[in-house]
Amino acid sequence: MSPEKIEVFYRALAKAMPEPKSELEHTTPYELLVAVVLSAQATDKGVNIATRKLFPIANTPAKIAALGVEGLEEYIRTIGLYRGKAKNVIALSQILLDQHGGEVPRTREALEALPGVGRKTANVVLNVAFGELTIAVDTHVFRVANRTGLAPGKDPLAVETHLLKVTPKKYLQNAHHYLILHGRYTCLAKKPLCAKCPVYEPCGFKEKGKIAKGEAKPAKGAKKPSKLPKGRRV
Ligand code: SF4
Repeated sequence: MSPEKIEVFYRALAKAMPEPKSELEHTTPYELLVAVVLSAQATDKGVNIATRKLFPIANTPAKIAALGVEGLEEYIRTIGLYRGKAKNVIALSQILLDQHGGEVPRTREALEALPGVGRKTANVVLNVAFGELTIAVDTHVFRVANRTGLAPGKDPLAVETHLLKVTPKKYLQNAHHYLILHGRYTCLAKKPLCAKCPVYEPCGFKEKGKIAKGEAKPAKGAKKPSKLPKGRRV
């Protein structure tokens, strides 16, 4: 995609989503870190249901470590892979207490050294909690970047590197949110909503014209698109 089209692409997304925010409910960097760790292969909605009960009781490393693995499991057992996640959250909370004064570290290296925290989680925390210009590449961002031609790459790291290279600096702070929301609510995996897409013009997807005119058949098992929630939160 040419730099001119990239500018048009982001400008349109910024207009469509003036104040994109994380859909994972949190009030502190630690709550965000826990929520992101819990969200692996789970929905944000499901995580929020669990953390709405957990955080009023325990929302600091000391309080969650005090719950112990079994105590934490009681709050998160509705989330997939909860046993492994409980172990990771307890272990990372103890490391925060032992090595970081009970605070969430602000460096990628320290974040990725925590149990259950990979590059994507570190990028989310650095971007959302600390305002760093990082782009976390999840399944939605990966699809949008490749399908539209914005930043093609064979794996998430390649896409992330490409996105950081081509995204104009003024859009970097929110780029992750723009792309994840766009993928989640418009550029759907099985049936992208090209007919009402704000980036239809710069998008380089070859099938977009057919889909916009209704000629392309939806893939089998395509889900009904869900509505963009109020405030367009991620
Ligand atoms: S035009 Fe279609 S394929 Fe292109 S970004 Fe929009 S929804 Fe996705």
